[in-house]
Amino acid sequence: MRHRIAVVGAGPAGLAFARVLHRHGHPVAVLERDPAPDARPPGVGGDLHENLGQLALDKAGLLAEFRALSRPEGQAMRILDPAGTVLRDWRPRPDDRANPEIDRGQLRDLLLGPLDVQWGRGVTRVVPGTRDGVLVQFADGRQETYDLVVGADGAWSRVRPAVSPATPHYTGVTFVETSLDDVDTRHPDLARLIGDGSVAVYGVNRALVAQRNSGGHVKVYAQFRAPLDWHAHLDPADAEAVRSSLLALFDGWAAPVLGLLRHGTAFVHRPLHVLPVSHTWTHVPGVTLLGDAAHLMPPLGAGANLALLEGAELAESLAAGPGEPDEAVRSFEERMWARAGRWAKITTAGLERLVSPDPAGALALFDEVQPS
Ligand SMILES: Cc1cc2nc3c(=O)[nH]c(=O)nc-3n(C[C@H](O)[C@H](O)[C@H](O)COP(=O)(O)OP(=O)(O)OC[C@H]3O[C@@H](n4cnc5c(N)ncnc54)[C@H](O)[C@@H]3O)c2cc1C
Repeated sequence: MRHRIAVVGAGPAGLAFARVLHRHGHPVAVLERDPAPDARPPGVGGDLHENLGQLALDKAGLLAEFRALSRPEGQAMRILDPAGTVLRDWRPRPDDRANPEIDRGQLRDLLLGPLDVQWGRGVTRVVPGTRDGVLVQFADGRQETYDLVVGADGAWSRVRPAVSPATPHYTGVTFVETSLDDVDTRHPDLARLIGDGSVAVYGVNRALVAQRNSGGHVKVYAQFRAPLDWHAHLDPADAEAVRSSLLALFDGWAAPVLGLLRHGTAFVHRPLHVLPVSHTWTHVPGVTLLGDAAHLMPPLGAGANLALLEGAELAESLAAGPGEPDEAVRSFEERMWARAGRWAKITTAGLERLVSPDPAGALALFDEVQPS
């Protein structure tokens, strides 16, 4: 295979794609808008499922390193009601490797390895079908052409318009993210509340979820139904103002639970947007999409897993095929659409039950999916 291939975006999808191609000895240009790997906080950690994210890391030859880094105990999950009563307290068996947690920064560094990413190369537009191939235009005014351009540039993809007119829409649910550092020494009560993994508290149309990452770092999410402009009167940089407004929203919840908001540091507003469930497009020679760019869905444990597996699978198909890359891309797209469509339905229905007028629905969902 001697085709000029570029992937736009060095998130889980783009890095898995590049890393598996690299393993098979095929060059690929990785074009990333961020100026450096640590230009932004790496984002929330997540659990990698045995049949999705872990399978992708296996294809990249990275499963053993992942196992050494990941935290199987992080699969633990506790559910409380707003009064602070523990309703469920699930812990994995010591040998349970089904969905171990890994920090996002650790995952990124693992995938980066020997890859030579082109940092600071924001793509503005992709034009298929030019005389010399697929034209990629950059924010700095330069342009290049490739035989295959893979859009792995996330929710607000600049590659997507080359294949589909779809744009993400707001779900009606907003997450506000905050963090706790050194939780075991600074906030031992909260550390006990969270345990080794996550704690989730479900109320009417709102929830508080805290997830332990490595090194005593905890991510906390206030999740609620609200109009997109709910914070129009707030300065997002004014942490105290955001905190007060969240505490008012969760008024009446038990003090130990509200400690997750009282002690949180900076607050980040994350309104949840999604693409239409079962988003597909008419195949365009020379361009395709992976991960959130292809199928943005509610963040309920599948997005990074799908992104990784899609990246690894497309790379494997390209590396294996003696024919034109387009044949491999076409059949890959059919498989991706079918699998992502199933997950989009599951996560969309899940979000309806987790942030809902009836908190019993969240508990029932937990009982359905959690192994006993
Ligand atoms: C709060 C929250 C919790 C989540 N929890 C989980 C979880 O537990 N498990 C799970 O599996 N998933 C989870 N997800 C979903 C997961 O984070 C995403 O599905 C996943 O990151 C998608 O990977 P990606 O590579 O497709 O896109 P991204 O991770 O968005 O990566 C896209 C990359 O492209 C770059 N880029 C963007 N635009 C351009 C451009 N124009 N030019 C060049 N580069 C560009 C970006 O800088 C970025 O590096 C969560 C998401 C959120 C918001």
